[in-house]
Amino acid sequence: MIDKLEKSKCTGCYTCANKCPQKCIKMVEDKEGFFYPEIDKEKCIKCNLCEKVCPVLQKKQSDNDKNPTVIAAWSKNNNIRLDSTSGGIFSELAKEVLNTEGYICGAIYDENWMVKHILTNKIEDLEKIRSSKYIQSRIEDTFLEIKEKLDEGKTVLMCGAPCQVEGLANFLNKDYDNLILCDFICRGVNSPKIFRKYLDSLEKKYKSKIKAIKFKDKTYGWHSFSTRIEFENGKKYIGNRYLDSFMIGYLKYNAFMRPSCYDCQFKGLPRRSDITLADFWGIEKIAPQLDEDKGTSMVLLNSEKGRNLFAKIKENINHYEIEDKDNFLQNKCMYDSVEMTESRKHVLNEMNNLDYDELRKKYFPEPKKLKIFRINISLLLKKIKNRK
Ligand SMILES: Cc1cc2nc3c(=O)[nH]c(=O)nc-3n(C[C@H](O)[C@H](O)[C@H](O)COP(=O)(O)OP(=O)(O)OC[C@H]3O[C@@H](n4cnc5c(N)ncnc54)[C@H](O)[C@@H]3O)c2cc1C
Repeated sequence: MIDKLEKSKCTGCYTCANKCPQKCIKMVEDKEGFFYPEIDKEKCIKCNLCEKVCPVLQKKQSDNDKNPTVIAAWSKNNNIRLDSTSGGIFSELAKEVLNTEGYICGAIYDENWMVKHILTNKIEDLEKIRSSKYIQSRIEDTFLEIKEKLDEGKTVLMCGAPCQVEGLANFLNKDYDNLILCDFICRGVNSPKIFRKYLDSLEKKYKSKIKAIKFKDKTYGWHSFSTRIEFENGKKYIGNRYLDSFMIGYLKYNAFMRPSCYDCQFKGLPRRSDITLADFWGIEKIAPQLDEDKGTSMVLLNSEKGRNLFAKIKENINHYEIEDKDNFLQNKCMYDSVEMTESRKHVLNEMNNLDYDELRKKYFPEPKKLKIFRINISLLLKKIKNRK
């Protein structure tokens, strides 16, 4: 049974819960805010299907390319590009599938600003799926829904974290010509509960409910991305990547990720997905002409199916094949998990006793250098004012 899997290794991919023929596996939130399977042992018939489909217990070797084609690309549609995390390639792939009466599966915010996957054939849902949400998404029943559509002969494009994509592939246990799997290079997923605390602290500060959230907003450019949060009272928070506390906790202190992300089993090549997407960090050094600071996607074409779908969107994007593939090695998260830190050992444990600002000051403070930089800037501004 799935309880054989050590808790620290469980990715929360929902594959076991989707597979259970008795529906006796529930995903239950733990005190850190992550979901784990819990078996109703009275209903369980010990078929062990949950164990057989778990992508960690049954890690499958992929037949996909060990040396995939690497492409720098972005959408020709400026609105899509600016609204996406990198170059908007996911949206272009999704549009192609939707235009041929297919379905797309991806992550959206729910009514509480938590994240879940949906399966849809509606173009108006694409805007909700677009953009990275850096917290763990709940798969819920989408693997069952995907299987139903695939069996009806519909094309499905599923995009998720590498562990979710591997989970779906194990769940189906069959190659479907009408399924395209898309993952991304993944730093790791954060606790929904700490994210809620962060949002609560902002709602308190701005005295209003949240209306919209955009991670990696490009108001100040792709390289200096910000977190943008809009409130119902019309106010707006835009926190630069070096000053926004949630991004500092995520990127500098590795403070909020799921335990399994610190020893991720789904790094490197070959990928189980047909297409892998990422931010093409470093493009400004390899080919500065391809960097307009509006976002450039790195696209890895891992299989024939991936190449075929990508060929169909070529008219709608700018794309350049990268010959010197060593450059994509610069994307560290492709190969290595992030390190477990002292902050991580405490912050999610103490989150139920301390408020967000106390946690921030104690475990993921703004780096001192930035504080000095900020003080200098404010001094400079004062001096300029006094001169006038
Ligand atoms: C948690 C997370 C960590 C990432 N880490 C890195 C990294 O370390 N290095 C790097 O280069 N790129 C990373 N990425 C990928 C990057 O942020 C872009 O998503 C990618 O470049 C695709 O961009 P796009 O402009 O083509 O499409 P976008 O529209 O930005 O991508 C949207 C796609 O991402 C999926 N998605 C969004 N949030 C989630 C979520 N929480 N869980 C599962 N799926 C989700 C959506 O379903 C959609 O299909 C990460 C993404 C996420 C969600």
